[in-house]
Amino acid sequence: MDRAFCVSLNKEITALDAEKHYRQGVITKKNDFACPDVKCRAEYIFVNIDNKKPKVPPYFRTAKKTSKPHISGCKHDTEEKKVFVICSATPRQPRGALSENSNYIFNTNRPDRFFTRHIETSISFLHLDHTTIIRTTNSTSDEHPAIKATNINIYSIENLLKKNLKKDQEIVINGRTVSLGSFLKVVDNNLPEKKDGLIYCGLGQVIGSIGESLKIKFCRGFNIGGEIYNLTAIIDNSIFSTKSFYYKQVLEQTNAELAKIYKSNNRTAFIYVYGIPKKIKGTRNYIINVTSLDMCLIESACSNKHLFPLYIYDLEKSKHLFSQTKLS
Ligand SMILES: [Zn+2]
Repeated sequence: MDRAFCVSLNKEITALDAEKHYRQGVITKKNDFACPDVKCRAEYIFVNIDNKKPKVPPYFRTAKKTSKPHISGCKHDTEEKKVFVICSATPRQPRGALSENSNYIFNTNRPDRFFTRHIETSISFLHLDHTTIIRTTNSTSDEHPAIKATNINIYSIENLLKKNLKKDQEIVINGRTVSLGSFLKVVDNNLPEKKDGLIYCGLGQVIGSIGESLKIKFCRGFNIGGEIYNLTAIIDNSIFSTKSFYYKQVLEQTNAELAKIYKSNNRTAFIYVYGIPKKIKGTRNYIINVTSLDMCLIESACSNKHLFPLYIYDLEKSKHLFSQTKLS
């Protein structure tokens, strides 16, 4: 959590401010914090502040063995649980060492028993959890097992983008070495790709609700012979009734984003969707059918702005494009 009530300062502060005060010696104790709710004031701990090389910046969490937990129904308690859920959906491999061997696979489902697979590896189990996406082979006894034993398959757009890769970074996708920039196709009145699947991305508008299936129409389309063709991502209903623990977490995140999107005036989303666009005969519409949460990522605001030109994700600059929402 990034906000807490600071007991000695007697006010609510951000983790960023707390870090500043701690470094200046204004705050001296890591447990000088409490739940922002005045009725609750559960004990908080400031985490990562003494860590020299933290993987994530200092943040607050509820103290574990404490006589002062959250009162029942405290919204900050739920907030924390949600944050945890989101974190645990991220694969926790040690970064760097393994990422170069990653293979991103977007044209297939995860193998059966993928989530319960037994892991045989020399990597410390401290770095892994049950959602860790990792596949290992038994190392041969002779050479550096730690280096050669691992091969990771990554299946979701979300995990690909979480890695904060640069646009020109080379990655292996579906067995081919490509740059991230060339695999992300901004829907910008260009031509659809016919042969290979790509990740199409851009600002879109939610035009159908979960009741039928979720439809998100890209605000820009394809330009074919001077005519603009719409592209719509159609997200299969079955996605919303997943039984898998992993996908439930992803779904929870997606739903949280959708809730924000529904609140916005234009129902705008930034969407990534993997596939090959299919033309609907006799219309000026293309569709991509999404059948797995791995294949799409819906954000209420673009979180990877470094990958795109400004006008692609800027709502103000694209507002005029949100008009006809019919999908014929
Ligand atoms: Zn609380």
